[in-house]
Amino acid sequence: MPVRLPMAEAQEAAAIRAALAEVVGPAHVLAGADADPHLSDWRKRFTGTALAVVRPGSTEEVAQLVRLAAQRSLAVVPQGGNTGLCGGATPDAGNRNLVLLTTRLSRVRSIDPLNNTMVIEAGVPLLRAQDAAREAGRLFPLSLAAEGSATIGGNLSTNAGGTQVLRYGNARELCLGLEVVTAEGEIWSGLNALRKNNTGYDLRDLFIGAEGTLGIITAACVKLFPLPRSTGTALVGLNNVDQALRLLDLAQQHAASTLTGFELFSDFCLQLVEQHLPRLRSPFAASHAWYVLIELSNHQDANATNAMLEDLLGAALDARLIDDAVIAQSTAQASELWALRESISEAQAAEGKNIKHDISVPISRIAEFVRETNAQLAQRFPGVRMVIFGHLGDGNLHYNVSAPGFGSGLDDGGFIARQPEVYETVHDQVHRFGGSISAEHGIGQLKRAELPRYKSPVEMALMRRIKQALDPDHRMNPGKVLD
Ligand SMILES: Cc1cc2nc3c(=O)[nH]c(=O)nc-3n(C[C@H](O)[C@H](O)[C@H](O)COP(=O)(O)OP(=O)(O)OC[C@H]3O[C@@H](n4cnc5c(N)ncnc54)[C@H](O)[C@@H]3O)c2cc1C
Repeated sequence: MPVRLPMAEAQEAAAIRAALAEVVGPAHVLAGADADPHLSDWRKRFTGTALAVVRPGSTEEVAQLVRLAAQRSLAVVPQGGNTGLCGGATPDAGNRNLVLLTTRLSRVRSIDPLNNTMVIEAGVPLLRAQDAAREAGRLFPLSLAAEGSATIGGNLSTNAGGTQVLRYGNARELCLGLEVVTAEGEIWSGLNALRKNNTGYDLRDLFIGAEGTLGIITAACVKLFPLPRSTGTALVGLNNVDQALRLLDLAQQHAASTLTGFELFSDFCLQLVEQHLPRLRSPFAASHAWYVLIELSNHQDANATNAMLEDLLGAALDARLIDDAVIAQSTAQASELWALRESISEAQAAEGKNIKHDISVPISRIAEFVRETNAQLAQRFPGVRMVIFGHLGDGNLHYNVSAPGFGSGLDDGGFIARQPEVYETVHDQVHRFGGSISAEHGIGQLKRAELPRYKSPVEMALMRRIKQALDPDHRMNPGKVLD
């Protein structure tokens, strides 16, 4: 949306754009229609305005831009792939925003296979980081459905999780060192490639998960792992979440650290995928109330992995935990099973407006949480449709609520207007179960107002003091995480 400015402001805006162009070159200062895609979030829930979208090509250029922003009193909104789900990369409606796009920070700087580390720049898409590691004979295990566009800087700034956290941990656990441009425009070169480094406060941990509110990550040193020799993938159908939890326990006993994925989704999720992405079909003749996608990654050959998977599924059938199962017989079949799971967000978006919750509770309490919270929502918001899926192995569910279907009398707009009440129902329950209102997506602007309800005053005050210390003028991504 174009910003209408009085003459003096328009002249100042032109002068600022000229100064930005001197740093990055005119081709990398985007305005008007070129800037538009960067002013809304992936879900189209937030739209803002910016004087310009700038694309620096080096860490030094990022530092110069941040110093320029300080001189001109501009807010800096870092943006990577813009796939975040909390509006964290979308500027507000103010007229002094600079969106700093990291996609030209796109170099894999170095790979050290013996040290099992890789230094990559913030704008490298996650998929390319995985490919670079594989070409060096190593695994970079962070994996999520948006990996074609999501960047390493965005992954670290949201402390992304994804499908392999169960075995390898989230983005924070995969990062050894960072290079950061501070709110003052200094460059902190903290690209340690060390597993052990106890030298005072861990600055790296402050910037990870900060959603761009403390500084700009320009590069990272990440951990690599040996490439597995084989993987085994199975989809099972079962009756309820209690059974899925007992299956998780059994899978951990059978496969231990070989278990790298354990993803749950409901039958309604599968129905949405089949309806909106007709090329994807369930492999089962009959439907089941719930499904679990299991992945093993092994350092033995494919025969050994399949035998392990068959043993596990045999034991699960004997214990009456599962009703049916299919094992992928090829990489293509495994991809088809994963596509069912990874297309749920897209299918849910195609179905209409929805209210997302990215929650975690202790794994042992998930079934009880789902039972109780489903009942409360059904009572308070008759007709809503639950779209429940996620990383059961980490205690993390995308516990989403879709608007009631046609004929309910509540249109999409009316449903979204009730988001605060839906949030309150679900997040109060999460809190009661000792959980978190954001397991892996962050806070952004979407959940900012929710945070003080569930964090203690001491925790909020400490966070505010950190923000004040590192960004005293509140220019780094204002309005995100904290108000
Ligand atoms: C279909 C789909 C599936 C998804 N699945 C998952 C999943 O399984 N697990 C998961 O955790 N997330 C998931 N996400 C969310 C999203 O992909 C992740 O949050 C991802 O890490 C964001 O990366 P990005 O580059 O797109 O960041 P952006 O959306 O561009 O930015 C996200 C936040 O990070 C800040 N930021 C970006 N780059 C930098 C930087 N260099 N320095 C400082 N701050 C920066 C932004 O200001 C913003 O606050 C999914 C999203 C989609 C659309």
